[in-house]
Amino acid sequence: MIEKVVIANRGEIALRVQRACRALGIKTVALHSEADRDAKYVRLADESVCIGPPPAAKSYLNIPAVISAAEVTDAVAIHPGYGFLSENADFAERVEQSGFIFIGPRPETIRLMGDKISAIRAMKDAGVPCVPGSDGPLDQDDQRTLSIAHGIGYPVLIKASGGGGGKGMRVVHTEANLLSAISMTRAEAKAAFNNDVVYMEKYLEKPRHVEFQVLADEHGNVIHLGERDCSLQRRHQKVIEESPAPGITPAVRARMGAICVEACRRIGYRGAGTFEFLYENGQFYFIEMNTRVQVEHPVTEMVTGVDIVKQQLLIASGERLAYRQEDIVMRGHAMECRINAEDPVTFMPSPGRITQYHQPGGPGIRVDSHIYNNYVVPPYYDSMIAKLIAYADDRATAQARMRIALSEMVIDGIKTNIPLHQLLLNDALFQAGAVDIHYLETRLG
Ligand code: ADP
Repeated sequence: MIEKVVIANRGEIALRVQRACRALGIKTVALHSEADRDAKYVRLADESVCIGPPPAAKSYLNIPAVISAAEVTDAVAIHPGYGFLSENADFAERVEQSGFIFIGPRPETIRLMGDKISAIRAMKDAGVPCVPGSDGPLDQDDQRTLSIAHGIGYPVLIKASGGGGGKGMRVVHTEANLLSAISMTRAEAKAAFNNDVVYMEKYLEKPRHVEFQVLADEHGNVIHLGERDCSLQRRHQKVIEESPAPGITPAVRARMGAICVEACRRIGYRGAGTFEFLYENGQFYFIEMNTRVQVEHPVTEMVTGVDIVKQQLLIASGERLAYRQEDIVMRGHAMECRINAEDPVTFMPSPGRITQYHQPGGPGIRVDSHIYNNYVVPPYYDSMIAKLIAYADDRATAQARMRIALSEMVIDGIKTNIPLHQLLLNDALFQAGAVDIHYLETRLG
């Protein structure tokens, strides 16, 4: 077993990883910026190292600082959490070259999946259903491009191969706009990701977002933990997630899960990962693989009973998965509301001091958060400050528990999106499990 882990992240996920380490008797090193120096999870860690000033580029994204922190503390492994360096193949490579274990997939896998075109190719080869598209980069041959779009049928989506976080995409409804839209997406992608490679996909108009969680060890054992529905999104940021996905039958789950498991075997996947699909009219279309733990992992933990972060640590220690596929039984229903420090109407970030905090509780309620009374939410990072998770035997009861928990939760001194969650929990279409990925933005107007 790994003896000491550097946690190269902040906030709730830093605390979540710390908890999993403790459960396994692993010592923890909390890395923090100057802005997070006083956070309680930093104090709770066995050791802590300040890796730089508040801006993430100078601290949480500072590869040499992270690696030297691992060196000075004699750590064995580095857990990147999500965001920041978690999907940076160069980082993973530097970690391994410096003699540490990267808690995640091999750098080659991260690189393969980080480039959308190579990821789609690999997935197609492995038998994963993908969105009809250009099958590779668009070139300068305008006639060819026009005919690809014609073949796919409008609307089409132009996507930057190096894009991420919902950036570098443009929907095109008519042939007249196609070539100019491609040039604009190329120019933006060049500026944002220094990579002007773009490709084309069918634009799906009313899909749901359904994703499958997988775990793979170094010995070729792979399992899936079922799916999550994350259709409620704003600006490609998930707002509420749940598991199981409404309407996905055990047979469909088993079939799609097996496809994901087989794809992991083919690419030699290691660690926890997620296959993201758009789901429309009963069909799944792969969009990307996340090669890390995801924000929404708790809903899967609640319905399967598997501690995903603990599994990441065990896999990184070289252990064999203790579960076979038939051991994984999904029971009940879980949903997660991402609580953000932001105005519920304008979505402007709302950092500052939390003057009063009351955490909800009761049967089936879990809160993953690093905040407390008098905690100051720094203005430098993502606005998510807590994840409120409700679990029950069935979906309606999970929703009812979530409504009560939201009404109990007090976060004073800053604004939060709790009122938005309350609105959504009372929305008839959401209650019916019938929302697509565009629903929230349309509803917000
Ligand atoms: P990113 O890496 O930026 O998250 P994704 O490929 O996951 O890129 O796409 C981001 C979001 O864009 C998806 O969650 C979905 O909401 C939307 N999207 C992506 N591809 C399509 C498509 N072919 N049709 C409709 N919406 C899409």
